[in-house]
Amino acid sequence: MTDDSTLTPATHFVMAADGSSGLTAHGKGIPNIDSVKSTIRTYYGVANPSSPSANGIANRASSPYITEMQAIEAHILANMPTAPAPHLAVVFDADDTTLWTYDMEDGAMHFNFDPKLQNDEWVQKAKFPATPGMVDFVAAVQAKGYDVYGITGRTNDQEAATLTNLTNVGYTAFNADNFYTKWTAQPGGVALPQPDYVNCAADSDPVKCSTVEYKAATRKHIESLGETIVLNIGDQWSDLQGGHAMNSVKLPNPTYYLPSLDVADAPATDAQMTPKTEFDMLPDGSSGLTVGGENIPNIDSVKSTIRTYYGAPAGIANTETSPYISDLTNIENLWTKRLTNRCARGVAHGTKPAVVFDADDTTLWTYNMEDAAMHFNFDPTLQNTWVQEGRFPAVPGMPAVVNAAKAAGCKIIGLTGRNNAQRVATLDNLAKYYYDDNDNPLFKSQYYFTKWNSATGDTQPAYVDCAQDADATKCSTIEYKSSTRKYVEDHFGFHIIANFGDQFSDLIGQHADNVIKLPNPTYYLP
Ligand SMILES: [Mg+2]
Repeated sequence: MTDDSTLTPATHFVMAADGSSGLTAHGKGIPNIDSVKSTIRTYYGVANPSSPSANGIANRASSPYITEMQAIEAHILANMPTAPAPHLAVVFDADDTTLWTYDMEDGAMHFNFDPKLQNDEWVQKAKFPATPGMVDFVAAVQAKGYDVYGITGRTNDQEAATLTNLTNVGYTAFNADNFYTKWTAQPGGVALPQPDYVNCAADSDPVKCSTVEYKAATRKHIESLGETIVLNIGDQWSDLQGGHAMNSVKLPNPTYYLPSLDVADAPATDAQMTPKTEFDMLPDGSSGLTVGGENIPNIDSVKSTIRTYYGAPAGIANTETSPYISDLTNIENLWTKRLTNRCARGVAHGTKPAVVFDADDTTLWTYNMEDAAMHFNFDPTLQNTWVQEGRFPAVPGMPAVVNAAKAAGCKIIGLTGRNNAQRVATLDNLAKYYYDDNDNPLFKSQYYFTKWNSATGDTQPAYVDCAQDADATKCSTIEYKSSTRKYVEDHFGFHIIANFGDQFSDLIGQHADNVIKLPNPTYYLP
């Protein structure tokens, strides 16, 4: 018996914002990107947040995000006196401070930033709605007698459209005199020179002009015009670092992360301007209802952590060495020894020992498809192309594990959620890497199980019981896989001594003496 109650994803994570935790975290210690997405979508009130086909459109009327924004805005206004003197100013960032990019980031870009799409379809067409509550908030700040300024990382060739967008959604405070965009030398753009008040050598990288260098120097410039900046509001820490504001407020935004080196003369309090590094997150997205935006793992940090873990800075996994491969190697070394002993012992005792292997990310490696080809947005049509063309490499080290089990006398069973129409191509793909010392394929058609597809007229096998869970109308992965393992035991008389999978749904439901969970933070199939 295995203890199914232990087969659950981690719910506590320690993750640095810069991706470096991927060097040390084991796979299960990295927030699963599918769970992060459903948590973010729950936070923004997206419909069906856990569905792969969620539309990525934020609820404009009510959501945990809106509730949190309203509370922040009300708190600031309640503590903000009528301006006691002239020339006191409040500075606002644009994206996700005054203008709301959620529907672009998720619905249009699926959390993969595309600067051309951003500029052509959203910025220049002035499509952004206002950030919830901020039109009234900016008006209230002005009514209290404060001067209002905008400082955005958008470039000057986007300034006119941005001001139009701000006006269209109801802001009356911003104009060409109080709204600062960044200079640009873009081809096709109106190239404006870098203002001489911005010093791009103010941080430790004199070559690049960072966000903090640009924004802090611009605030200093505003001060030089006679203003005192009493408050600076932004959704990124880099909007706020570098001083030149008496107070600052960080708005929640787990949908992207724009870090920037701080400037050398930054105030000591900037040390506190850092993202959270500890997170509690349930796998089903429900934490988005309760934890608040700052406590949701930022999806950019999750991606960079995953890429560090796989040695995949550009979306292509390192096939030789990575923290992921080290984790696998530890599991594989342990289980190669165990299977060698236990398979041989089972044969000696006549128990017909067998080992079950899942396909994707247990025997065949999907990392490059998930990241480089799909950017962590699963596309079943593209996946089918990969499957039919047999493009997947082996999961590093797994051919030797399967071969050791076979050599010691175990039957090798394949059990995958891939469908019957993908069966032949999957066996062909496996045969490229999984063969014994006599070049015979380790996975045999007779012992390879793919799932029926009712849509194409396949019949569900009689041995699969789809009424084991609370939903009798749907056949879950757990029902399909555990019923098939039971069938393997009953029909062939095999004794399954080990079951290997990268999803807990591969492993739950008994019918194996041992379950071996391989790491996979790149998707979640409950
Ligand atoms: Mg912003």
